Amino acid sequence: MGIAEDRIKQYEKGNCEQDKVFYQAMEEVIYSIAPLLESDERYKQNSILDRLVVPDRIFKFKVVWMDDNQNIQVNTGYRVQFNNSLGPYKGGLRFHPSVNEGILKFLGFEQILKNALTGLPIGGGKGGSDFDPKGKSDFEVMKFCSAFMTELHKYIGPRIDIPAGDIGVGAREIGYLFGEYKKITSSYEGVLTGKPFMFGGSLMRPEATGYGTVYFTEKMLEIEGKESLEGKVCTVSGAGNVALHAIEKLQQIGAIPVSCTDSRGTIYDSRGVDLCLLKELKLEKRASLKEYVKAHPEAKYIPVEDYPEGAHAVWDIPCYAAFPCATQNELNDIDAQNLIVNGCISVSEGANMPSTPKAINDFLSHKICFAPAKAANSGGVAVSEFEMSQNASMSKWGFEEVDDKLKVIMQQVCTRVALTAKDYGVEGNYVDGANIAGFKRVADAMIAEGI
Ligand code: GLU
Repeated sequence: MGIAEDRIKQYEKGNCEQDKVFYQAMEEVIYSIAPLLESDERYKQNSILDRLVVPDRIFKFKVVWMDDNQNIQVNTGYRVQFNNSLGPYKGGLRFHPSVNEGILKFLGFEQILKNALTGLPIGGGKGGSDFDPKGKSDFEVMKFCSAFMTELHKYIGPRIDIPAGDIGVGAREIGYLFGEYKKITSSYEGVLTGKPFMFGGSLMRPEATGYGTVYFTEKMLEIEGKESLEGKVCTVSGAGNVALHAIEKLQQIGAIPVSCTDSRGTIYDSRGVDLCLLKELKLEKRASLKEYVKAHPEAKYIPVEDYPEGAHAVWDIPCYAAFPCATQNELNDIDAQNLIVNGCISVSEGANMPSTPKAINDFLSHKICFAPAKAANSGGVAVSEFEMSQNASMSKWGFEEVDDKLKVIMQQVCTRVALTAKDYGVEGNYVDGANIAGFKRVADAMIAEGI
């Protein structure tokens, strides 16, 4: 039995708690690529699948820092360097109490195929820590980032591995990480992406993932012969970088995004959400969404505990298109049924793997246009690669230039995924199309590079 099959058996038996999400991601890919493996013997002969599901290496390290009360705190840091067949390891850092090796392997594995789909020269990696930036002072975040980089700097470099942001890691954290790297190495180089614009960041990087998801969706709806998003009610989950910019782009194209969520509750504002207020609450004040209804008493705030267990309020709001932009497995089969019954025709994943396997099956069997994360949210990492190009050539591109390039990339990814699905006999199935197209690109490079 191969390594991949062995892992899937463990997943099915349920005896792999920490690695559950990793095996979930792996299982989906294995099922999707079956027609490719059957059509071309080389992938089996070269044991590509078994080689792909094991990371090249994983670094795990202790991070010791001092909080504002002079107490010494200890966290765990990680970097998973998964695959560099197509380019240097590339992928974000997540700071969240849920972070463990399993979650980072799942994210790193997804990142390999996502990065491949962009057509850009980047491999896949992921990292992070169980550190929780929530409720920490700026100074504490800086202390933690410095301590984290003291170890991480040994493993990264602009041609080796280029981390970026993810949940809990934005421009502030990247700034502190960059400052520490520079101090340790005396080298001013593009070793991180998502940097603030004033020291080497790319314009549009903060917007890229959210905007890109909307660009992808517009193209998918066009290919599938559906009505555009203009004038349509859309639901969005999350209230972080991805969600806020998906909302922004939806508003710019004339759609009506009516929701957002955080870990404690959901906002439903049927007239369309007030983005200025949301940005103020989430980006400046780092406050709870509950504050939203103080300014807009006609909007509804639904606390998590007030909603029946097992389902999520945001997916029970009637909409034309849904955009899960919060976190993994936030949309389950009950939610999928609610969306379908309420007339939703399109679901696009702005977060990484937000839909459970059962939810995805429901969408596909009901012919809902379903855009999987590794295709739909690849705009973030694509603009990260643009940032690497700008850093390497010591240049700066304008906002429109980056936005145009992003739009083209998202349309190309969407077309590539749709055509691949058609070629392999699963027309309209963007999950299989994305997995086959991404896998094929990495696998062909692995074969050409030898063992
Ligand atoms: N964390 C983002 C993702 O999931 C971005 C990674 C990057 O920019 O390297 O794709």
